[in-house]
Amino acid sequence: MPIGTNVTGKMVTALKKLGFNKVFDTNTGADLTIMEEGNEFIERLSENKNLPMITSCSPGWVKYIEMNYTENLKHLSSCKSPHEMYGAILKTYYAEKNNINPNSICVVSVMPCVAKKYEANREELSNQGMKDVDIVITTRELARMIKQGNIEFVELEDSSFDEPMGEATGAGAIFGTTGGVMEAALRTVSEKLTGNSLEKIEFETVRGEEGIKRATVTIGEKEIKAVVAHGLANAQKIMEEIKSGKADYQFVEIMACPGGCVMGGGQPIKSSKTRMTVDVRKKRADALYTIDEKSVIRKSHENGVIKKLYDEFLEKPGSHKAHELLHTHYIAKEKYNI
Ligand code: SF4
Repeated sequence: MPIGTNVTGKMVTALKKLGFNKVFDTNTGADLTIMEEGNEFIERLSENKNLPMITSCSPGWVKYIEMNYTENLKHLSSCKSPHEMYGAILKTYYAEKNNINPNSICVVSVMPCVAKKYEANREELSNQGMKDVDIVITTRELARMIKQGNIEFVELEDSSFDEPMGEATGAGAIFGTTGGVMEAALRTVSEKLTGNSLEKIEFETVRGEEGIKRATVTIGEKEIKAVVAHGLANAQKIMEEIKSGKADYQFVEIMACPGGCVMGGGQPIKSSKTRMTVDVRKKRADALYTIDEKSVIRKSHENGVIKKLYDEFLEKPGSHKAHELLHTHYIAKEKYNI
């Protein structure tokens, strides 16, 4: 199929054929991450504390800072990544509502990322002895499983994600590309700070393939300086600015993989011939922006599932319960000797 084809519906059908009982949308978890991360950013901004705040949803990046910039760990957002948040909610709220013993739930995340396998095994990403996410398989592994299952993927009908946890917004969809987390967060943070619904919800200045993107966003009477970096060489440049005290920005998004998760290490590998003729990163990123454009709801805080989750269970972003289930901490780690 052409690179950048949206195969979400076919993937849900394939997962059901492979034997999964329920299939939910990780993008719902991304919406939840934005609620918590946006709230955390607003708190830090009002207290002028631990700024700039740096995103923490890329485990490759988190491991890098834990090994190389241990004195700057306080800058990382305490938010777990979207699939980890989602796993924690499935084993508490969802299990409670559906009268399921959480110990009998096995959460499998399908990810574009090899580092997510490591992340899911971090001890701190668990609740009452239960891992938030039990198993991670990469998109490449899923493709292999589909082939081994003799499933004619191209012929499959589309299916929808399972209710009641399957609703996601355009903001959740763009998480997978560089700049997407920042843009999704700015949509929610802007509205929360001004109390006004946004007229313009696209933040073009944080989009695109440039390794480091700097943007100043005016929100009400405030000016937020934001930086987006992808690839660890660019992350290192940003960290050197922060370490030396030269950083004058408040919000930083870092993704370890050049291009972001669309080019993650677990994604299908394209031949060098294809890579020379097609801009794979752009095609995949464009697919996400198209999903966003076509979404009826494009802001995480307007997601009905998320609103209900806070009303019925979490109370509000940053609540005690939200901290227990959705936030984590970081540990300085020794560098490997290679
Ligand atoms: S940027 Fe790479 S390491 Fe980070 S979450 Fe995405 S795929 Fe994983």
